[in-house]
Amino acid sequence: MDVLKMPKVELHCHLDGSLRPETVLELAKESHIKLPDESIKTVRETLIAPSDCDSLDTYLKRFDLPIKVMQTAEALERVSYELMEDAALENVKYIEIRFAPQLHIEKGLDYKTIIESVVKGIKRAEGKYEIKGNVILSYMRNSEVQGIYDVINSGQTLLGKGVVALDLCAGERDLFSRRFKEAFSYARGLGYHVTIHAGETGIAQNMTEAIQLLGAERIGHGVAMMHDPEAYECVKSNGVFLECCPTSNLQTKAISHIKAHPIAAFYEEGILVTLNTDNRTVSGTDMTREFQLVHNAFGYDSGFDKQIYKNSVKGAFADETVKRWLLTLLE
Ligand SMILES: [Zn+2]
Repeated sequence: MDVLKMPKVELHCHLDGSLRPETVLELAKESHIKLPDESIKTVRETLIAPSDCDSLDTYLKRFDLPIKVMQTAEALERVSYELMEDAALENVKYIEIRFAPQLHIEKGLDYKTIIESVVKGIKRAEGKYEIKGNVILSYMRNSEVQGIYDVINSGQTLLGKGVVALDLCAGERDLFSRRFKEAFSYARGLGYHVTIHAGETGIAQNMTEAIQLLGAERIGHGVAMMHDPEAYECVKSNGVFLECCPTSNLQTKAISHIKAHPIAAFYEEGILVTLNTDNRTVSGTDMTREFQLVHNAFGYDSGFDKQIYKNSVKGAFADETVKRWLLTLLE
């Protein structure tokens, strides 16, 4: 099967990690942001993480410049539209785009405008390409708990109309789920789905707690459970989906080489794995490359691709009409 041509679904893609370098350069000039020099080469080097990043924290540094240029409603709408366009051009038929509204208030935008702008960009692309999209609202878990309520309430009016879920992201060092238990219970009550970054480079117990305390239906990464039977069992028995992002895991040293990635073992054992980019620009990848990477490492072919597609559709936070449509594309 031609990997580029086959229909694909992406559930884990950060907006700020997926900007076109050309757009970043243009937006930086428009908003008079100082760059080391104004060449596209330098911008690319600033955005793309090296394949041998020393840690997740170094990887996260690559987001500084994109976030600086994403401070107006127009810029947010534009980059969302462009991400949809990039995904559509490699036959991604459905994508969930995540971002943290709290990172886009430097020029005075309010959360509602920020979220609406991203949804607007997604809708504009839906009108032009054969692709559907939804937004996952992320919250930086290293900031104060109280702040998440503003994000939850601001996204509420767009729930089911472009916004579908809540996520916690950023560096993973402690047992963060305990602090956010009440907030996630509140969000679930309003109708938010839940996916949580956990077990990326941190402790596997974060996966168990994200499922048990926050009601996570999906886990971002989850690499750490390969060494933790309790987290593994919790994911398996609860039918939790894993959003695997192999290239990103290589860069952040979550795994040492691609053959050490647990996606193959998890897949063989019937864990509901999905395949994703994490960040198209920062990780220098796209869905086509992620599939090729896994194919080359583990010798998989179209049987694997179809199962991943089915898992992704099942785990998607899209409505039933979109899910039914996505399944017809596999025939
Ligand atoms: Zn992520």
